[in-house]
Amino acid sequence: MNVSQQSWLDDVRSNAYAEQLSRGFRRLRFSRELETQYRNYLLEDSFDLKRIALSIGVLIWLALAAIDFLLITGPVHWQMLGVRIGVLVLLVICGGLILQRRHIRLLVPLSLACILAIGIGAAAVAGIAHRVDQGYPYEGLLLVSMAAYFLVGLRFSEAVVSAFIVLLAYIGFELYAGLPLAKLVSNVVFLLFGNLVGAVGCYLLEYKSRQHFLISRLLKVMAEHDSLTGLHNRRSFNRQLERLWRQAQRESVGLALLLCDVDHFKAYNDRYGHQAGDTVLQRIGEVLAGCARRPLDMAVRLGGEEFAVLLYGSSEREAQERAEVLRHSVQALGIVHEGSLTAGEVTLSIGVSCLWPETGHPLRSIYEHADRALYEAKAFGRNQVVA
Ligand code: GH3
Ligand code: MG
Ligand code: MG
Repeated sequence: MNVSQQSWLDDVRSNAYAEQLSRGFRRLRFSRELETQYRNYLLEDSFDLKRIALSIGVLIWLALAAIDFLLITGPVHWQMLGVRIGVLVLLVICGGLILQRRHIRLLVPLSLACILAIGIGAAAVAGIAHRVDQGYPYEGLLLVSMAAYFLVGLRFSEAVVSAFIVLLAYIGFELYAGLPLAKLVSNVVFLLFGNLVGAVGCYLLEYKSRQHFLISRLLKVMAEHDSLTGLHNRRSFNRQLERLWRQAQRESVGLALLLCDVDHFKAYNDRYGHQAGDTVLQRIGEVLAGCARRPLDMAVRLGGEEFAVLLYGSSEREAQERAEVLRHSVQALGIVHEGSLTAGEVTLSIGVSCLWPETGHPLRSIYEHADRALYEAKAFGRNQVVA
């Protein structure tokens, strides 16, 4: 399934996730900011997988060390055991660091170190064994590649590079051990085909994982934003309001709410049509978004032609000034409204209310007070700010 051919994306308001989906990502790479987001998500997402992979790796490594006793005897066996112990020590150290989770940035390098240690260790063991017994199994190397592709949570490029390094190490050790060329070629061809299967599977898996990431983020954006104006919706506003209030209580700062309602909007729709009305709402939405540019501020479409701007850490005077600028900016859009009894253009009425943690008022009072102020702004003749 190619997402870029999905027509439903045409109906989605443009944002970074939708754009990336329609642009495609065949090279398994997003635009810079999304790529960073994806890698952080992947680190979180693959953490449990890493723990499981580590346990399985150590278990298989120990089992194979025991089997070595049955297959190879004599002094060469002790060399193999030396390699196995060396790798085990490295696994325990790197695995310990991974599990501690303190060094999240080191997670990828540590995983790579583990997989390379096992891979190169297995290649060395096979090479040493082949000096005395050419029948010693080398196929374990394929297990290492499969772990790199599917188990460790590496990205495709990381998995391919590490599998390739392991293969090169294997060739090096076999040349050193003096394995006959015909046998070496046949082994390498087998490993190459195995790697091909793994790499294709790994590519498809990462493609799907990236697709899942983009679609789930896109759905989240769609669930929290209004599709007409792109502003936050009421649901998102309610959640954010509670979150910001808790933060405001911790930091002892106030919240201000500007509740906005378009004046005589029904008359606008009746005269110019619903479509034109929608365009007006979009343009007002842009003005509101411009008013809430600070990181913790938010502009909301509460529903219909009702909007809100939430200002974090703002004083009453500042909130009133911002509301006045907002009201003026909407009128300055100059959208002709001949059906308005208030002015020749589309205008806003705004009710302002502020809430400080130390007053002990409940959070809902900020909405109730702003609503009352808005009602008064309407009653006093519209196109004005009441605090
Ligand atoms: P007031 O000045 O008292 O606010 O008058 P009003 O006409 O703006 O208020 P009222 O609540 O009577 O009408 C709101 C209108 O908003 C009714 C409805 O047609 C219109 N409306 C609500 N949602 C939308 C929308 O999504 N698009 C369009 N075009 N109009 C909408
Ligand atoms: Mg209304
Ligand atoms: Mg109205």
